[in-house]
Amino acid sequence: MQQISDNVYQIPLGAVNAFLIEDNGLTLVDTGYKNSTFKIFESIKKSGKNPNELKQIILTHSHPDHAGSAYEIKTKLNIPVYAHYEDAHLIKQGIAGRLPHVLSPGLANWIVFRMFIKSSKNEIDAFEVDTTIEDKDIIPIAGGIEVIHTPGHSKGHVALLIKNEGLLIAADICSNMMGLGLSTVYEDRELGIKSIQKAASFDFDKAIFGHGKPILKNANKQMRAKFAIT
Ligand SMILES: [Zn+2]
Ligand SMILES: [Zn+2]
Repeated sequence: MQQISDNVYQIPLGAVNAFLIEDNGLTLVDTGYKNSTFKIFESIKKSGKNPNELKQIILTHSHPDHAGSAYEIKTKLNIPVYAHYEDAHLIKQGIAGRLPHVLSPGLANWIVFRMFIKSSKNEIDAFEVDTTIEDKDIIPIAGGIEVIHTPGHSKGHVALLIKNEGLLIAADICSNMMGLGLSTVYEDRELGIKSIQKAASFDFDKAIFGHGKPILKNANKQMRAKFAIT
């Protein structure tokens, strides 16, 4: 687990990252693929924290690499899950994402697509999301987490802005695998790029991604430059 800012940590889960926020107990942002619970709990324990301190889960979207272990952790600890209503109703049906996906250009995306996405089933353990969130909502953790609705990769995708820490949890609006780039797939790529521009218009210095490395300085400037309207 890597500390990103005062109260935020990145939990690497192989192909994908989850995140931990420490304030008034612990909040887990995303849950990896199915069967990631043990790995997540071990990372939390290794850092000297207690997984039983988890108070809630926020899902950035419904995809199987982010919402895959949500049901298991939720039921194990009896804690609520937050997600945008557009993806909450898919989760209720056990559907991971809307098809077809449009594959983004580039070798890294082609490899990720072949290795992880093409063969993975479009399903997750179904459950009812406890609290639906939407654009501009403020979740009262870490001084206030602003929800930024960022559709395109998934219709109910949210990025999370933690103003007090100058940090954007960008999740899958874009990735930082071999440098900043488009996410491997989008439901609607043009809308996805608009959402990157929307998120990058906010004020933050650091950004963390579902796939790839954190950017620890000038993240919004780098995102604005990379995804500028041309
Ligand atoms: Zn995704
Ligand atoms: Zn992902």
